[in-house]
Amino acid sequence: MDAHLLKCYGVGDGWPCASRHHSSFLYRFGKVSILLDCGEPVSGSFKASGLDYDTIDRIFLSHLHCDHVGGFFMLMQGFWLEQRQKDLVVHLPADGIKPIRQMLDASCIFDELLAFRLRFEPLKAGQPVVTHNVKVTPFPTSHLDSLRQAFQAQYPQSFEAFCFLLESDRTRVGHSADIGSPEDLAPLVEQPLDLLVCEIAHCKPDDLFHFLKGRPIKRILFMHLARRAWLNLEETRAQASKILGSIPFTFAHPGEEIVF
Ligand SMILES: [Zn+2]
Ligand SMILES: [Zn+2]
Repeated sequence: MDAHLLKCYGVGDGWPCASRHHSSFLYRFGKVSILLDCGEPVSGSFKASGLDYDTIDRIFLSHLHCDHVGGFFMLMQGFWLEQRQKDLVVHLPADGIKPIRQMLDASCIFDELLAFRLRFEPLKAGQPVVTHNVKVTPFPTSHLDSLRQAFQAQYPQSFEAFCFLLESDRTRVGHSADIGSPEDLAPLVEQPLDLLVCEIAHCKPDDLFHFLKGRPIKRILFMHLARRAWLNLEETRAQASKILGSIPFTFAHPGEEIVF
């Protein structure tokens, strides 16, 4: 079986940070490459990786917080100027499609200038997106529920956020993106995972570790650590180790590449 690769372009949380960059992960399953989230500075990170501009098959945006979409427009400007040729589908919460289209027009990144066809598709809970032998299934999370409750009257929108299950042949990867509580991960950990890429900013680390304890997960990569947990990494590691027991885990660093 081919080795699969994950490039961690950005592993920080939503707070400004000087070194960790913001959420962006490139999954490479053989010939199929999936970019999950476009936190800044994804355009520069992609350029630095030296990959061909036709490499990415699909982009998924988990939700519309700026630490997950802030680099999208520069990435598209790069795809235009570097003459990407291959059609591209961007999968995102439905509420984002119209404003992102408008912002591309306002940025003069017109369809007519692109050497590829750019399409947007709304993410639908539980409906897989298939590219050759790779299946990506979005599941809703409660990440934006409290904002929905507080602001939906003034800002009528769906407040959608998603986590993802990525499957290729017999390999299964869970990607939390941003969650609201550990229970959001339930659909990802129902069956054994080869890798879980999991945030730690939006629930108490202990609660998350207890939820994951004893699950059939070969390896966990923690990312999107809240500033306090990142600055006290050894303390966070000790805490995780005590609760998770035998599940191997590491903390993602920007630019890190992981073979799984
Ligand atoms: Zn985030
Ligand atoms: Zn978020």
